[in-house]
Amino acid sequence: MKAAETEVERQVAHRTAELAAANVELRKEIASFKHAEEDRKSSEENYRLLVETASDAIVSMDDRGSIVFANPAVATVFGYDPIELIGKPLTLLMPEYMRELHQGGLARYLATGKRHINWQGTELTALRKNGEEFPIEVSFGELTRDGHKIFTGFLRDISKRKQAEIALRTAMDERTRIVAFREEIGMALSRQEDLKGVLHHCAHAIVRHLDAAFARIWTLSANGRELELQASAGMYTHLDGPHSRISVGQHKIGLIAQERKPHLTNEAQSDPRVTDRDWARREKMISFAGYPLVLEDRLVGVMGMFSQRPLTESTLEALSFAAGIIAQGIERRRAEEGLRRSEAFLAEGQRLGQIGSYSWRVATDKIEWSNELYRIYEFEVGVPVTLELLRTRVHPQDLSLYEKMVEKAKDGGNDFEWQFRLLMADQSIKYLHSVAHATRDQDGQLEYIAVVQDVTERRQTEEALERSRSELAQMSRLTTMGEMAASIAHEVNQPLTAVTNNGNACLRLLANHNLEPDVLRRALEEIVADGTRASAVLSRIRAFIKKGPVDKIPLDINDVIQEVLVLAGRELEEHRISIDRKLTAGLPLVLADRIQLQQVLLNLIKNGIEAMIAVANRPRLLCVRSGIDKSGDVLVAVSDSGTGFGLEMDRVFTPFFTTKANGMGMGLSISRSLVESQGGRLWATPNSPHGAEFSFTLPASGGELS
Ligand code: ADP
Repeated sequence: MKAAETEVERQVAHRTAELAAANVELRKEIASFKHAEEDRKSSEENYRLLVETASDAIVSMDDRGSIVFANPAVATVFGYDPIELIGKPLTLLMPEYMRELHQGGLARYLATGKRHINWQGTELTALRKNGEEFPIEVSFGELTRDGHKIFTGFLRDISKRKQAEIALRTAMDERTRIVAFREEIGMALSRQEDLKGVLHHCAHAIVRHLDAAFARIWTLSANGRELELQASAGMYTHLDGPHSRISVGQHKIGLIAQERKPHLTNEAQSDPRVTDRDWARREKMISFAGYPLVLEDRLVGVMGMFSQRPLTESTLEALSFAAGIIAQGIERRRAEEGLRRSEAFLAEGQRLGQIGSYSWRVATDKIEWSNELYRIYEFEVGVPVTLELLRTRVHPQDLSLYEKMVEKAKDGGNDFEWQFRLLMADQSIKYLHSVAHATRDQDGQLEYIAVVQDVTERRQTEEALERSRSELAQMSRLTTMGEMAASIAHEVNQPLTAVTNNGNACLRLLANHNLEPDVLRRALEEIVADGTRASAVLSRIRAFIKKGPVDKIPLDINDVIQEVLVLAGRELEEHRISIDRKLTAGLPLVLADRIQLQQVLLNLIKNGIEAMIAVANRPRLLCVRSGIDKSGDVLVAVSDSGTGFGLEMDRVFTPFFTTKANGMGMGLSISRSLVESQGGRLWATPNSPHGAEFSFTLPASGGELS
């Protein structure tokens, strides 16, 4: 029994121990259970706290789309009490147009597991209780409870963020707009157009970028009293009408010019400076902005714009920037136009005058040419000009002269003037006359500024003139000689008579056998002398009427006068005209053609004789005078006591003017051109008390008769 008891006791003890152990385990388990429960409770608490204090709305819905939970934030986000929402469809929180989409999406997801929107951070539009739509950012989660899906969404009101974004974007847009405006104004001002065109683009830019209904730009007139409309863009584009010219000081635009201050208003419809306020009201103009265009302290114009919107800070900033650079643009453009005009004027002048110009920097051999010079040299405009290239055009006969001039110019640094010829590709010759002025640039480097004139035509005309003058002179000499045939005959006849007489005397001596050698020699010597005299007269006449080239040599004018008086001697005698020679000895020599001088003198003497033929009641006196005039030129005067000029004195040099029955009227005009071609002058004055005086000068050649 005892054993049995012991066994029972042992089993009891064992069982008790087991129970105790189990109890400990159970306690442990309970403890951990409790712990877990506490954990759960605390995390639930945390979660609740989170949900309740979250600023985002948290809404759960079941798989039928009904709201099963809403946190307190739904009140601030959606305007609903959380309780109100329980059991309501989630679609209540979205705008009408999204509801069907939502329902379809939910059904599809439940059936297929495919999500129709991104569940994390999707932006959607939500609907507040007051009907206002607003943007939200939504994130979803799902869990399954009792075999049903529960969806929980975190809904964040992002309208503030959106507004900030929009504000930022608007600000960005404004800035981009202003940047675009500035760029466009800048581009407009650098266009290759005239001032009007450029300002037109500026006005357009104001309209396009700064909300202007229309914009206008005026420039100040040259006299500074008026504003002239140059550009108008927007609703009015015409440039005529009452605004085309505005006096400075008149209306709002003229006042802006006078005051040199901008006029800005956002009350265009009531602004006292807006003259036509009815118009402003009708056209719903809100603002006006007008700026003076001023450069340093100079007013160059005014710009103005009307807008149907108020002026913003950035618009004003942009306008005042534009005013500054448009003013600069106008000034620059004006200067350029002035320059262009004067360049065009110069080019036209060069073209008309066949004058080219160039500059030559000696140190670098940099040569700049005007277009006309390219034309003269017949080089393609723009080809680089070098001394080498120029050399190829110089006439071979002028090359050494050309090279000497270049060398002299290189180390001389003095002004120079020269004439040379070009031989063109077609073998034609051009005569050029160049005048160069030496200057020094800022660095002290030698630079020539020069003009080159194509004088080919002048040369050709001069040559033609010279030819016709000598032909005319030749003709007139022949005429004179014809008229003076009697004189000539007398001159030649005299020695011939003497020869004949002496010859007869010799014959007589021979017949009488009275040969005295001395007498015979004298007679023969006289024959030889008279023969020589006759042949000298003939050769003088031949030389006089011969057509030869002009041959300028240094001459003693008194010799020429004497020779001519011999030629005219017989006629003077015939008309019983006394000669008064007042020749000054030791005059400087003149460089002239002897025959031409003789012709001039003969012509004046012949005219003097003819003017005295009619004079019967006073002595006929021809005076020939030589001397020096005030300027040092040699002077010759032929005066007579003839009829004088009457009223015709001014016309006597006109070709074909004559008062004589068989006169040609060419003598004086030819004489004058001959004298002028020798560098002198020929003129007429009345002689005192009667008659006429013709005088001419000739430059002294530099040599003097000793
Ligand atoms: P022409 O002798 O053939 O008429 P000129 O040209 O030599 O041609 O002279 C023009 C005119 O000038 C003359 O017809 C004459 O009327 C006037 N005249 C020229 N010389 C004299 C003079 N010494 N006195 C008065 N009149 C003169």
